[in-house]
Amino acid sequence: MTRPKLPTTIAGSLPKPSWLAEPVKLWAPWRLGGEALAEGKRDAVRLVLRDQERAGIDIVTDGEQTRRHFVTTFIEQLDGVDFANRRTVRIRNRYDADVPVVTGAVSRRGPVFVDDARFLKSATDRRVKVTLPGPMTMVDTLYDAHYRSREKLAWAFAEILNAEAREIAATGVDVIQFDEPAFNVFFDEVRDWGVRTLERAAQGLPCTTAVHICYGYGIKANIDWKNTLGSEWRQYEQTFPLLAASAIDQVSLECANSHVPIDLIGLLGGKDVLVGAIDVATERVETPEDVAKVIRSALRFVPPERLHPCTNCGMVPLPRDVARAKLEALGAGAALVRAELG
Ligand SMILES: [Zn+2]
Repeated sequence: MTRPKLPTTIAGSLPKPSWLAEPVKLWAPWRLGGEALAEGKRDAVRLVLRDQERAGIDIVTDGEQTRRHFVTTFIEQLDGVDFANRRTVRIRNRYDADVPVVTGAVSRRGPVFVDDARFLKSATDRRVKVTLPGPMTMVDTLYDAHYRSREKLAWAFAEILNAEAREIAATGVDVIQFDEPAFNVFFDEVRDWGVRTLERAAQGLPCTTAVHICYGYGIKANIDWKNTLGSEWRQYEQTFPLLAASAIDQVSLECANSHVPIDLIGLLGGKDVLVGAIDVATERVETPEDVAKVIRSALRFVPPERLHPCTNCGMVPLPRDVARAKLEALGAGAALVRAELG
């Protein structure tokens, strides 16, 4: 069977409707409660699905409409983490945050996003992707007063993630993606245990597996950090050979408007590559031709069956009309290049 060319997808999140949560804000609190909140989340998922379908996105997500945050919302459902008494830590060596404390062995009380996955699958005919945080990125959002070892905590999270991912996969989703922005910061740990804990999280899954590694949302702390990275961003050079040798099927990376040398994609060997062709750090909406340019440059290193035009990162902090226009640019840019390929 021939595979379709340039199947489009997104990194994961999309903005929420203003009746569900305060717009243009990370960790925005819910504006509904109880059964109204549950229903509101499902309605918001239906809306982001229609937006993605209309824009020509082939592998759709629920836009993380059911989560306040891509890491914290998952950890809140685990035992062994104290959210009431916080400690200050430095996140990804970039900014200080008051974070929850690991006070005992971590464990999953029950399914976290499994019902969401089932609903997503039932609400669209397109292929669907569900995102989960990666073990290292989870470790990096907590103060660990129990394991006293980032590696040990990561292995514990990997076991939990694998149990969750197996149940999500059983609902029939097509792709499960682990978000590991921490892979762009802690290179020694990526080499020593990061890729292995990621593989443990993805072990035995019957669906396609992916990892998303980026330079973060377009928030000030990330933009300031990017400004210190110089004219060429070669962070991926250290992780891509490790991922090429790993059991993970797909790698999602940042390209649009970044200083990542595009030839680093060549280090990903035979993997599917999710090329970020939409910049999430600006409200300027790309033209289809802007998107097409990124895709064409990536095609020098990845065949069109394995190249997925994608966003650089999640779009949750953007205004909703901007995110919708960016989705349309992504779909239209991919269509332009598909037409050229014949
Ligand atoms: Zn990202």
